[in-house]
Amino acid sequence: MSTRRTTTIQSQPHSKASFLKVILLGDGLVGKTSLMNRFVTNKYSETLLRTIGVEFLNKDLIVGGDVYTLQIWDTAGQEQFKSLRTPFYRGSDVCLLVFSLTNRESFENLEYWKKEFFYHADVQNNEFPFVLLGNKCDATETRVVSREEVDQFVSTCPNMEYYETSAKLNENVEKAFIAAIEKFKKFEEDALNRDPFKADDQKVDLNKIRKKNRPCSC
Ligand code: GDP
Ligand code: MG
Repeated sequence: MSTRRTTTIQSQPHSKASFLKVILLGDGLVGKTSLMNRFVTNKYSETLLRTIGVEFLNKDLIVGGDVYTLQIWDTAGQEQFKSLRTPFYRGSDVCLLVFSLTNRESFENLEYWKKEFFYHADVQNNEFPFVLLGNKCDATETRVVSREEVDQFVSTCPNMEYYETSAKLNENVEKAFIAAIEKFKKFEEDALNRDPFKADDQKVDLNKIRKKNRPCSC
């Protein structure tokens, strides 16, 4: 099952479309399904979640005039077995790592999920974009992970941005997904600048296009 929603973030003329596979990773019960549902359907329910059982939901976002189709993959409860299938990870463009601010173990397991992702997604570049979500920030009375600890963890990761979210109160949820798109865009641009072959390919393509479009002089 999949659904598709569109949210316009900035109303500018569309210039190009991109398809992004976004995966949500982290311990069970940290709020991954709730975050996905909040983002895609703007709904939060404490009872519906267990029965949904979907693998992904689609949502279109328009950011800076470009259309992005996010295909958001959720783990449908398998995270307790600590072994998700490789197709789940493969082809990911950006990874949202989730822990609960009310559960220390879920914070301590982040390193595990990160390693798991690098291994199964077969990602070689350690600059791969991550957005870290400390969820349940509304539950201030039961919070057990401090901002300082999280900042310390983030500072050890080469390309990670952190948001404190609440799926329940809809805090920072859309912002985090927009950040994921922006991190992906930056990563792509940097990769193009780093990889001379890709850059050369582009030049060749541009030349071809220019030649093709030139009026025939023969
Ligand atoms: P998942 O196993 O990571 O997919 O987590 P779920 O989305 O199923 O949520 C697990 C439990 O945490 C459910 O009882 C949710 O209602 C609750 N939950 C999810 N997000 C929040 C949040 O932002 N704040 C609070 N207080 N509870 C949340
Ligand atoms: Mg879930």
